[in-house]
Amino acid sequence: MNTALSQISSSPADSSPPSERQSVLSFSRAELAAHLETSLGLKPYRADQIFKWFYQQLVFDPSLMTNIGKADRELLGALLDFGTFDFTDRQISKDGTRKYLFTVKNDMQVESVMIKQPSRMTLCVSSQVGCALGCKFCQTGTMGLTRHLGTEEILKQVMGVLLDAKNFDDSFSNIVFMGMGEPLHNFDNVTRAISILTDPHGLALSRRKITVSTVGLVPAIKRFFEENVQATLAVSLNGTSDDVRSEIMPINKKYPISVLLDTLRSVPLRNREHITLEYVMLRGVNDTPEDLERLPKLIRGIPCKVNLIPYNDNAGLGFSSPDPKVPHHWQKKLNEKGITATIRWSKGQDIDAACGQLVTQSTRKRK
Ligand code: SAH
Ligand code: SF4
Repeated sequence: MNTALSQISSSPADSSPPSERQSVLSFSRAELAAHLETSLGLKPYRADQIFKWFYQQLVFDPSLMTNIGKADRELLGALLDFGTFDFTDRQISKDGTRKYLFTVKNDMQVESVMIKQPSRMTLCVSSQVGCALGCKFCQTGTMGLTRHLGTEEILKQVMGVLLDAKNFDDSFSNIVFMGMGEPLHNFDNVTRAISILTDPHGLALSRRKITVSTVGLVPAIKRFFEENVQATLAVSLNGTSDDVRSEIMPINKKYPISVLLDTLRSVPLRNREHITLEYVMLRGVNDTPEDLERLPKLIRGIPCKVNLIPYNDNAGLGFSSPDPKVPHHWQKKLNEKGITATIRWSKGQDIDAACGQLVTQSTRKRK
C-alpha cells in the first residue's frame, strides 16, 4: 500500500482495541440512536449528528464533531469504531475503470469496481465472499460461498472508493450490487446498507441510483417489495427455456422461469418504475433465433427494460461471447416490439474487473 493511499484513512485517537467497538458503518441511523441511548444515555438526535459528520462531512474523528459536547465525544470514541477505509490494492484499466481490493474481517478479500461510462461512473460493490449459487458461467460462482459480508464491510467498499475518488476528481453517481455474491442471499446486511446509502442524513442517494441484481431468489424478491427496499431491482434472466436456464443457473430448478416471471408480474412497482432484466448472452447457448422469438412473449406484462450483456469470456469456463452482431440484432428486434433494450459491453477487461471476473486474489493465484 503506498503512502498516498494510506493518507485517505483516518482513525480516532482512542486507543482501545477496535474489536471491542462496533463500527459506525454497521448501524442504520435508528439502530445507532438506540445503541447510543442504551450504552451512553444519549438522545436520539446525536445519531443524526454523527451520521451527518460521518457520511456527509467525511469526518471520521469524533473529537472533531464540534456540535457534540466534549465529554460525549470522548465517550463516542470509546464506544464506536469510526474506522479506516483504506484498500489493499487498486488497478486502473486503460478504459478508466478502477478495480479495488478490500481486506475485510478474518483477512478475507473482496473486490469493487468503479466503472467508467461516457457520462458517469458507477460503483459496483460485492455483497458476499464468493457465492453459493454456482452459475456455470460466473467466476465468483466457482468459488462457492465463504461468507456473507456485514453491512460495515459493504459500506467500507463505498467509503473507501468515495474517498479515493477525490484523487481522480470524480465520484460515482450510481451504486450497483453486481460484484461478488448474491445480494438477496445476504438480505439483512444488504438492505441495511441500502437504508444508510439512501438516508437523508447518510449518503442521501436516490433509490433510482441504487440497483440490486439478483439471480432470481423468488421469496427474497417478494420480501424486497414488501419491505419497500429503497433500490431498483435487476433480475438475471439469462435464458428463455427452463432446460437451458437450469443448465447454466442451478437455482432455476427451484424457481423456474414461469414462477420467477409471474412473481415479477405481481410485485407492486411505483409509478414509472421498472425492473431491469439482465440477459448475459452466451454464444450458441442462449442467443439463438428461437431465444429471441421467445423472449418478448415471456416477459409480456412486466414493466421492464432488457439489458443485454455480451458474455465476457476471459473466465475460461467453457462459454464464449456472442458474435458482436447478435446483441445489436436483438436490441433492434426488441425495440421494434416496444421493449427498451440496452447493451452492456464489458469494461476493465485488462484488469480482470469485468462482469463475472471478480474472485479473491488467493483464489485467482491458486488457479
Ligand atoms: N448475483 C447477482 C449479482 C452479481 S452477478 C446476479 O447473479 O444477478 C451480476 C451480473 O453479471 C449478473 O447478471 C450475471 O449474470 C452477470 N455475469 C456473471 N458472469 C458474467 C460474465 N462472465 N460475463 C458477463 N456477465 C456476467
Ligand atoms: Fe452468484 Fe450471480 Fe455469479 Fe450466479 S451470476 S454465481 S448468482 S454472483
